[in-house]
Amino acid sequence: MFTKSASRPYLIAGPCSAETEEQVLDIAHSLASQGIDLFRAGIWKPRTRPGAFEGNGAAALPWLRRVKAETGLRTTIEVATGQQAYEALKFGVDVLWIGARTTVNPFSVQEIADALRGVEVPVLVKNPVNPDLELWIGAIERLQNAGVGPIGAIHRGFSAYAKTKFRNAPWWEIPIELRRRMPELPLLCDNSHICGNRDDLLEVAQQALDLNYDGLMTEVHNRPDEAWSDAKQQITPFAYGELLRQLVVPQASTDNPEFLENLEHLRHKIDEIDLEMLNLLARRMRCAQEIGRYKQRNNIAILQTGRWSQILEKSFAEGRKRGLSDEFVEKFLSAVHQESIAQQTAVVHCA
Ligand code: PEP
Ligand code: MN
Repeated sequence: MFTKSASRPYLIAGPCSAETEEQVLDIAHSLASQGIDLFRAGIWKPRTRPGAFEGNGAAALPWLRRVKAETGLRTTIEVATGQQAYEALKFGVDVLWIGARTTVNPFSVQEIADALRGVEVPVLVKNPVNPDLELWIGAIERLQNAGVGPIGAIHRGFSAYAKTKFRNAPWWEIPIELRRRMPELPLLCDNSHICGNRDDLLEVAQQALDLNYDGLMTEVHNRPDEAWSDAKQQITPFAYGELLRQLVVPQASTDNPEFLENLEHLRHKIDEIDLEMLNLLARRMRCAQEIGRYKQRNNIAILQTGRWSQILEKSFAEGRKRGLSDEFVEKFLSAVHQESIAQQTAVVHCA
């Protein structure tokens, strides 16, 4: 379940919202001919502000049953309460997903897990809106503990106050860490909700495949501009087909001996560089400790903001010359700087 084939990721596609029976069936027929794995449509829509279209609710469940009968496509919807999960199963929905605004709430997730206790229904868990990996894992564990499954995770990006080109910042390091902690868990990327626009959908989908994700969830609408929700990010079935054609699907591994040997060689180099880097960092920390002791003897505060700004400015310029982005240099040096301060503080307080 939720795993990719040699040529394709696991594909979930369909409209943000089930608007009318005709719209749902029209899109489903177009997508069935593209061989997707699962048809999505929201029927209970958790909208940020009141007054927006909140979905057709249970009235749309028979439409999805018709999708399955007419096209053979399996279906999935978002559920946010135990009652919704029960209704969905009653109408033969094949896979349930838990939305980002529900994953944040352990009470809601537990309620859904209890409603589904012991039922072998596949459930996909989107990341919570906030960048909290433990909360994401916690939701997955609540379902696992209730014996629900198989379970998969969907990365849909994280809310951020700062405006970026994305609607929801991807912060790839969080799903990568989820992978490390739960290596068997299928991981899919909802490129539509990360992007919030049509232009970046391919780039984000490709990045997910390059990171060895198992699948994609993408919003597809027959008349995207007229969609009742998330109009800006939805694409036509034709554009979706184009996107699939442009994707390069890398395989997780190979037994080609030449490739493996070259890779081994390059990895050895990386390991050596990492070791060198650790030695350098240790040297830098020893130097910071020395400065800490010196500042203490002279009764000078540890944090010198002027000096820190100076280091950053200089490093941005040097980094750029070496092809390193300001964003990376800042992240890396901030971590180093914080550790320096911690080590200087330890020296001062243990002296
Ligand atoms: C959706 O898939 O339409 C949706 C509301 O997603 P999310 O929970 O990721 O916001
Ligand atoms: Mn949507």
